[in-house]
Amino acid sequence: MATTVAALRETVPGERRVALTPEVAKKLKARGATVLIEQGAGGSAFFPDAGYAHAETASASAVLGRADVLLCVQPPTLEQIGQLREGAIVIGHLQPHLAPERSKALRERKLTSFAMELLPRTTRAQAMDVLSSQAGVAGYKAVLIAAEAAPKFFPMLTTAAGTIRPSKVLIVGAGVAGLQAIATAKRLGAQVEGFDVRPETKEQIESLGAKFLDLGVSAAGSGGYARELTAEEREQQQRALAEQLKGFDVVVTTAAVPGRKAPRIISAAMVAGMRPGAVIVDIAAETGGNVEGSEAGKTVTSANGVSLIGTANLPSSAPVHASEMYARNLYNFLELMLADGELKLDWDDELIAKTCLTHAGEIRHEPTRTLVGAA
Ligand code: NAD
Repeated sequence: MATTVAALRETVPGERRVALTPEVAKKLKARGATVLIEQGAGGSAFFPDAGYAHAETASASAVLGRADVLLCVQPPTLEQIGQLREGAIVIGHLQPHLAPERSKALRERKLTSFAMELLPRTTRAQAMDVLSSQAGVAGYKAVLIAAEAAPKFFPMLTTAAGTIRPSKVLIVGAGVAGLQAIATAKRLGAQVEGFDVRPETKEQIESLGAKFLDLGVSAAGSGGYARELTAEEREQQQRALAEQLKGFDVVVTTAAVPGRKAPRIISAAMVAGMRPGAVIVDIAAETGGNVEGSEAGKTVTSANGVSLIGTANLPSSAPVHASEMYARNLYNFLELMLADGELKLDWDDELIAKTCLTHAGEIRHEPTRTLVGAA
């Protein structure tokens, strides 16, 4: 029988993306799958039910009861997990580090779950990499938020009323979000600088026409990621940065270290040293914050007039393109296991094996197994 690939309407407050778009429904149908969505699943992302020509619609409980594969943006709730059929597959952000009870429920329900956060970041995996596609949206949006909040123009303007100097923008962290932020700020005409602790980012920052701000700290870790700084390196970074920050109008922070709280890079004292009217947008606010005092979903103004904006779920604020990219990422991953409408899991494929969170009543991801054991 054809595999039923399904998606629900997301229920987490503020979540506007959908895991399965009309375009992907068509592709799945062409590969022999049956596609099933909850009524209104794509509504918040401007994909009305009528646009899903290749999918059936049903109630949430019917979708959960029939799904062989459930695609999701946010992790399913414990209740939804309980309604899925034993042996069904769940693919999406599953945030295994945040909620051990969810991993436990997925194991107990004998679901095969794939946490896309665990996908190895190899060249072959790029088309499936949800962290990258969504980080790109976040970087872009963060700069637009900063431009909107700033009391200045970004570009240089020559006007009859005189010349306006361009805003000076600093992007902290030059991973996927940071590089997109740099590109966006450049397009808006700002004078842009960026820095990161991975030395290879210098060339990447410069290739976008921005300047690399050298703070004299290099901390490349394994797998192309950054490592946590030592106390000494941190101090050096902080000292050099405090001085530099005084010259910027806008700062967007995007720094992260996988599996850890976001590094604290900008202290309240550094904010106090910045120009009145300066704007800081902290993309890492949801994971601990790169800036002291930032809060996800809130704007705080410091005594010296610096706006500190903590963002929350930025990808959801561009739900059309974020959903399109996310759904394609999941489709490309699902393609690894879908042949003629039938599911076949090749455990020798590292992308399948390493992304798997639970299978056949077991937790396959070692750190999560430890976390659940300890819970
Ligand atoms: P991330 O979200 O984990 O971190 C964002 C950035 O913060 C990183 O560039 C990191 O070096 C930086 N950072 C960490 N601590 C810092 C500090 N104290 N000060 C300044 N910067 C700090 O990173 P990401 O965007 O997910 O990407 C990380 C790496 O993975 C990059 O090398 C990227 O090119 C690579 N990548 C590879 C693939 C692939 O090949 N499939 C896909 C995506 C990303």
